[in-house]
Amino acid sequence: MGDALLDYYVKAKARYPMVFVLPAVADPDDPNLPYHTISRVENGVVHLAVRPGYLVEDRTGFHEMGHVFDFIVSGRDPTFRERYWSWRFRDWPSAPSSWMVAQHEYDTIYRSWAYLPIESLAEAFSIGFLGWGTDKSMDYGHTLDPAKARAFFDGEAGITAMPPPVSVDYPVDWLGPVPSPNFTVGRQGNPVSLIVDHWMAGTFDAALARFMNPTAIVSAHYLIGTTGHIAQVVRDEDTAYHSGDWDINTMSIGIEHEASPTVLPSDALYAASAWLHAQLAERHGITLEVGVTVIPHRQVVATQCPGTLDLDRIVSEAEDDMFSQADREMLTRVKDILEAREGLVWAARVQRGNLDVESGKLYNPLLPPTDPRIDQRNKP
Ligand SMILES: [Zn+2]
Repeated sequence: MGDALLDYYVKAKARYPMVFVLPAVADPDDPNLPYHTISRVENGVVHLAVRPGYLVEDRTGFHEMGHVFDFIVSGRDPTFRERYWSWRFRDWPSAPSSWMVAQHEYDTIYRSWAYLPIESLAEAFSIGFLGWGTDKSMDYGHTLDPAKARAFFDGEAGITAMPPPVSVDYPVDWLGPVPSPNFTVGRQGNPVSLIVDHWMAGTFDAALARFMNPTAIVSAHYLIGTTGHIAQVVRDEDTAYHSGDWDINTMSIGIEHEASPTVLPSDALYAASAWLHAQLAERHGITLEVGVTVIPHRQVVATQCPGTLDLDRIVSEAEDDMFSQADREMLTRVKDILEAREGLVWAARVQRGNLDVESGKLYNPLLPPTDPRIDQRNKP
């Protein structure tokens, strides 16, 4: 039942590989494994669980990853939460002055999940990761700018940066640059946010020769051969002419695969392409998703390209590449453990946190608070 959150874990790990390393897993029969845990780190163990039948949406999935991020980073650096607090509520003077004060207010006054400082942090993480969304925790979007939230967490990830584990390394042969008519320097300010996959419909050598022909007005960033040989002829920072659409070209990396109507894509080609996709995901902060951030050429213009190339296989193998073999075994174990137990997701916690235990009064934490104590504090 943890599958849905594992997907988010993989995506979060693609952006923050230095944070989302996979810790050890408790014994499946450990009576201390909390039955209701969603995404927590206890004694170095990440627990992910989803209540059976609950549909995890992006905002919730990345909210849970915000908790994982927090538990891991604050475990390494005890000042993290205070730095979060001073960043988050810098522009809101009437907010609790520190994480500790906020926690105390929650403990003694509000007792609604929305006032838990860890929920505020998880909300900010989710909104920053996705680039959209309204905060459902204590300040209800009062000060939160998705771009600034992303910058904050990106910066925190940088502080704790460690080299990500890499299972197999492929050398990338630099054979470029292609002649100047075949590409444009720079990307007109666009970040790389998309990968467009192609097939050569011919041989590696023929494709390379075409890109080196100054009258062809065509290129791609990478070429992958049937043996798994990877070559690069246009820098990631520059615009290659591969998709037939200028706007798409300025935001994408083009990868040519050696395959054709008579030559099926080889296992070695898939392995090399998966590795390259994983590298690009980490380098450019792309969450690999077929049809969204990893697209076939035919999704841009009418063409057969990329023919028989299976993008789902590439992305699936790329996600595997982001984990070591030991990680993978642990992932399987986590999944098995979680599937055997009932979980409780954020939505259920919301329902539980809805009840003020002192007054017995029910709040709806998804709406702005109506409690007069809270209204007063929300005044500018
Ligand atoms: Zn193509």
